[in-house]
Amino acid sequence: MTIFAANWKMHHGPAAARELVRAVLARVRPKEGRTLLFFPPAVSLPAVAAEVAGRKDAAAGIQNIYFEPKGAFTGEVSAPIAAVAGATWVLVGHSERRHKFGETDEESGKKVRAALASGLKVMLCVGEQLAERQAGSTESVVLRQLEAGLSGLDAAAVARIVIAYEPVWAIGTGVTATPQDAAAVHRTIRGWLKDRTPAATRSHILYGGSVSAKNAAELLAEEELDGVLVGGASLEAEGWIGICGGA
Ligand code: PEP
Repeated sequence: MTIFAANWKMHHGPAAARELVRAVLARVRPKEGRTLLFFPPAVSLPAVAAEVAGRKDAAAGIQNIYFEPKGAFTGEVSAPIAAVAGATWVLVGHSERRHKFGETDEESGKKVRAALASGLKVMLCVGEQLAERQAGSTESVVLRQLEAGLSGLDAAAVARIVIAYEPVWAIGTGVTATPQDAAAVHRTIRGWLKDRTPAATRSHILYGGSVSAKNAAELLAEEELDGVLVGGASLEAEGWIGICGGA
C-alpha cells in the first residue's frame, strides 16, 4: 500500500479545506493499494472528515494532540476530542512540533500512547537536523526518536505505527533527500522495527521533505518508500493531484 499524506500545517480554514478535499477526491479516484490522508488544522477537521466519509481510501487526521485526555490545558486538543471531531489519524513528533515548539522525545512517546488509547492511528515523524547529519549522527538521532516514541508499546502496537522519515533539512526547503539517502535511513528504521515485531508484516515507512509533483515518482520508485508525507506541495489541488495521481 502506498500512503499519500497531506500536512496542511497552519493553512486552510474549514471552507477552503472542504473545497480542496473535494477537488482532490473528484480527480484522484479510489485505486487498489493507494491511501489518501489529509491533516488539516484542527478546526477544519470536521469539514474534511465529512468530505472523506464516503471514501474508504481516504481519511482525516490531526497534526498534533496533547497527551492528557481532558483538563485545564488551554489551547490544546486531546486524542478523544480529535476522534469525535473526525480524526482517525494523528501526526506525532512532526519536526515543527519538536523544533519550533520544543516537543521532547518523551512527550512524543506520551502522545503516541494517548493516541492509541483513543483508537487513533499514529504516524510518528522522525528525522535529523542538518548539523546532526553532518556530524554523522543521523542513525543515532532517528533510533533515539523511535525508541522514545514507541516506548512502552507491545509488538502488536508497534507493528501498527506508520513512520514518516523527514530529515529536518529537507522540510520546506526545496532540498530533497535522494531516493538512495532516504532508503538508507528507511532500512535502518525497518531493521529496528523488525527486531521488535518479528512476526509482523512489512511496516509502512513514508518519506517527507520537499516532495513535489516533479520528484514524487522518482522517490516512490525506490522500493523502501511506502508513501510520502507532503507539506507545501499538498496545499493546492493541482500539485497534490500530481503527486497522488502519478504513482
Ligand atoms: C511536512 O510538513 O511534513 C513536509 C514534509 O513539508 P514540505 O513537503 O513542505 O517539505
